[in-house]
Amino acid sequence: MNLETRKHFVVLGAGPMGLMAAMELLKGGHEVDLYERDDRIGGMSASFDFDGLEIERYYHFICKTDFALFKLLDELNLSHTLRWVDTYMGYFHRGKLQDWGNPVALLKFDGLGLIRKFRYGLHALRAKSVKDWRPYDKLLATQWIKKWIGQRAYDVLWKNLFELKLFEYTDRISAAWIGTRIQRVAKSRRNLMHESLGYLQGGSATLLRAMEHYITERGGRIHLQSGIERVEVRDGRVAGIVVNGTELSCDAVISTAPIQYVPRLVPELPRDFAARIEAIKNIPVACVILKLKQPLSRNFWTNINEPGIEIPGLIEYSNLNPESGVSIVYAPFYMPKTHPKWSRSNDELIDEVIGYLPHINPQFHVEWVLARHCHRYDFAQTICPPGFYDMLPPMRTPVDGLFMADTAYYYPEDRSINESVNVARELTRVAMAGTPK
Ligand SMILES: Cc1cc2nc3c(=O)[nH]c(=O)nc-3n(C[C@H](O)[C@H](O)[C@H](O)COP(=O)(O)OP(=O)(O)OC[C@H]3O[C@@H](n4cnc5c(N)ncnc54)[C@H](O)[C@@H]3O)c2cc1C
Repeated sequence: MNLETRKHFVVLGAGPMGLMAAMELLKGGHEVDLYERDDRIGGMSASFDFDGLEIERYYHFICKTDFALFKLLDELNLSHTLRWVDTYMGYFHRGKLQDWGNPVALLKFDGLGLIRKFRYGLHALRAKSVKDWRPYDKLLATQWIKKWIGQRAYDVLWKNLFELKLFEYTDRISAAWIGTRIQRVAKSRRNLMHESLGYLQGGSATLLRAMEHYITERGGRIHLQSGIERVEVRDGRVAGIVVNGTELSCDAVISTAPIQYVPRLVPELPRDFAARIEAIKNIPVACVILKLKQPLSRNFWTNINEPGIEIPGLIEYSNLNPESGVSIVYAPFYMPKTHPKWSRSNDELIDEVIGYLPHINPQFHVEWVLARHCHRYDFAQTICPPGFYDMLPPMRTPVDGLFMADTAYYYPEDRSINESVNVARELTRVAMAGTPK
């Protein structure tokens, strides 16, 4: 690439999307500086020191359809670190932990009649077979599910999961959003009876470190604890950024942080464009993580619908990735910040989860808890109502040289590192084509 066409790009955010964007820009021959507010790379996929164990702040599993991720692993010579495990699901309902996630478990499930179970199974098969989710973008998720399985089965199997993740947005979500989630897990199977999920040896950190290495080896620079405070705009185009009070020049900025930050960083954005961004809502998460002396169950994922238990499920991560040698359990509290529980301390939320565990396993004793923690993230889950395709603002903003995307752009796909890789490829394609000379 000659000096005329080589541009200096700034990437905002060093989560998987920002790292992938930096990799793509370097491949395109550009100069790249990547700025991250946190003291580490990874964003939602970052790990922390959990009492001597390096582990993700939030659980991560891989599905058989995560093709963009597989391609990246191949490129980084990491395919050998991908492990597949036959995982189990459970459903805690009517005071007992029941099997879930295969046809026999559905037949045996205590809480629904045979015809309703049959309708539930048909709906799952339908969701698995959909090829084009566009028409489902116009439908409401709860109406679509109720039409297939009926009100009673919805109340038993779905209502709690929706309400404890989406609260007042429960009846405002698109069918495409929920359908792709059902499909992703339904397609991640070894056969009809066995779900098969993946993890990376060493966790997501294995991938993140390799991406970091790729970037720095090729001359990209990663700046940690360097939150971008403002994007400088002159004559309608990006002139630079402000970090720690210092202005630094660049040709273009690619933001991969939650897009809600963008209008604050770029007050020059036209009001109607900023309003489109602000119309997109998110649900925060407070995710409890526990290290236990003994496994709670054999399940990786346990859905919960039980009066008095106010979490949608438990993820016993060590039943997917056993590397830690102890039991690791995550329990997410998704909730809007207006929810009274959000103002509770992390310790109160952790105690609440520990209080639920004897229900799941009557043998559980508080002495099993070896370590405890809780992480919060404000932009954990985008709210995707019907018509969301049309709500998403373009990646190329009206400010020349300013591009943006975040996890909302996965739509209708599920939240995953795989989708960050996909979106980063599209974002950098748009940015490299659209950066002014
Ligand atoms: C509870 C939970 C469970 C999940 N489970 C899975 C799973 O099972 N499988 C899976 O694949 N994925 C899972 N994910 C999703 C996965 O973690 C995300 O899809 C992925 O990490 C998103 O990466 P990103 O780079 O797009 O965004 P983010 O991770 O949000 O990264 C954005 C980055 O921008 C930084 N930033 C913000 N403002 C600034 C600023 N002004 N200047 C500089 N930097 C800034 C932030 O600090 C952050 O590091 C889960 C996420 C959560 C929360």
